[in-house]
Amino acid sequence: MIQIQENVPLSQYTTFKIGGKARYFCVIGDAGELRQARAFAEKKNVPIFILGGGSNILVSDEGFPGLVIKNEIKGIFYEKQSDGKTLVTVGAGEDWDTFVADTISHSLGGLENLSGIPGTVGASPVQNIGAYGKEARSTIHSLAAIDQATGKEKVFHHDECVFGYRHSFFKTPEGKKWIITQVCFLLDSNEAISIDYKDLIAYFSGKDTTKLSRQDVRDAVLAVRFAKLPELKSLGTAGSFFKNVTIPKEQYESLKIKWPDVPGFSFSTSDSGLSTIKIPLAWILDNICGFKGYRIGEVGVYKNQALVLINYGKGTASDIASLAECIQKKVYEMTGITIEPEVEYIFPKKP
Ligand code: NAP
Repeated sequence: MIQIQENVPLSQYTTFKIGGKARYFCVIGDAGELRQARAFAEKKNVPIFILGGGSNILVSDEGFPGLVIKNEIKGIFYEKQSDGKTLVTVGAGEDWDTFVADTISHSLGGLENLSGIPGTVGASPVQNIGAYGKEARSTIHSLAAIDQATGKEKVFHHDECVFGYRHSFFKTPEGKKWIITQVCFLLDSNEAISIDYKDLIAYFSGKDTTKLSRQDVRDAVLAVRFAKLPELKSLGTAGSFFKNVTIPKEQYESLKIKWPDVPGFSFSTSDSGLSTIKIPLAWILDNICGFKGYRIGEVGVYKNQALVLINYGKGTASDIASLAECIQKKVYEMTGITIEPEVEYIFPKKP
């Protein structure tokens, strides 16, 4: 039976360490409890917000006027398949990095490059998390989700998730109706390791890489991440605050006239035949706009990685939102590029 609490401060559940109170709050441990919580919200006629690791959200200082459901559906189950691969069924409330470490201890490959990403397993398909040349979609077999409106369960197979770059069906208005309860990954102990991303090449340079284990790759990814990104325990942050940008080739060429060193990678999505260029936004924030290390009051831009916004202790959601707006304006003024937050704003009214 779920316990409904009232007026619970959400700052304790977000990695930004920011957020007002949830009108109602409960923890759920299985799909049955999730259905009870959903029915409560329906009876009270209030909106629902599903909280995972709280690592990719900015919750308003006014809090959330409905029911916040903390997803703690746990469990990691390994099932060997006839082709030698392993199907791993994981509760959406499992911590992502604990899960990644567990797969490595089972000698399974495919997730080691995604080590150290904060958040829960349930969030991984939503934005198709990716890092160091790998994306979650290459291992996601299927997932189970519950319809917020009816409480009915549906299994979404890989293709129904419509994965894109940091995107999936679950980011669309239609997809947001679904609450993910379980994710199934198809992992392979024979999967080749991949260390050809620039930061990993640099890390392993001069080292013998002929006998690397998955744990060695995980250790490398963690070392590279922690050198650039702040420790969530010591500083309030939601990691990369903005999405990297893709722009038309012509726009990139004109940027290069003014800033010849601006990096760019050619990029194409399955649904667009356009020739676009992906630019590391951190480079623009640092080299064109000078934001790296910028601080205003209790909030600022991280000194080692300009995509990361920081709450130094007493910052508020409106401080972060104002800083984000200031950065968006400056990038537009300097480059003509419109940038968008990757972090989801949980505001009664989007600023
Ligand atoms: P980074 O390695 O400096 O890369 C910044 C941007 O440049 C990323 O968009 C990256 O693409 C792109 N890039 C770099 N090398 C590339 C190549 N050889 N070909 C194509 N594109 C290339 O970024 P970082 O901030 O230190 O982050 C390290 C990794 O963690 C990156 O893979 C980044 O995407 C990932 N990350 C993911 C999330 C997320 O899923 N929400 C958040 C933060 C960081 P890719 O994005 O395709 O790698």
